[in-house]
Amino acid sequence: MSMPCPTPQSREPSRRIPAADRPLAGFGAATAHTPVQPIWVCRGCGHPWPCGEARRRLLIEYEGNMVSLAVYLCGMLYRAVDDLCRVTPDTVPEPGRLWERFVGWAPYRRPDAS
Ligand SMILES: [Zn+2]
Repeated sequence: MSMPCPTPQSREPSRRIPAADRPLAGFGAATAHTPVQPIWVCRGCGHPWPCGEARRRLLIEYEGNMVSLAVYLCGMLYRAVDDLCRVTPDTVPEPGRLWERFVGWAPYRRPDAS
């Protein structure tokens, strides 16, 4: 079962959503593992974005700032849902699967309350 896609009227892109340009180049690697829009596969390896290498680099890039990583990834989830609903409306994955793919994989932890 695929997810219901938003109506075209509700899909106005927001300028406040960050560009899909991370992980940034560098970290000793020549291949960019950024997403190819609107199909959301990795530019470097062709796997669904964020691929394993993109996740590894994002964790390095956002080390010590998981809140910013979560905000960035939620923005990418928003963009991906918009794109995938437009390009492949009959095969958009379930919302939970998309959330896990884009956001839920990162090791978010609350600060120790003690
Ligand atoms: Zn990749």
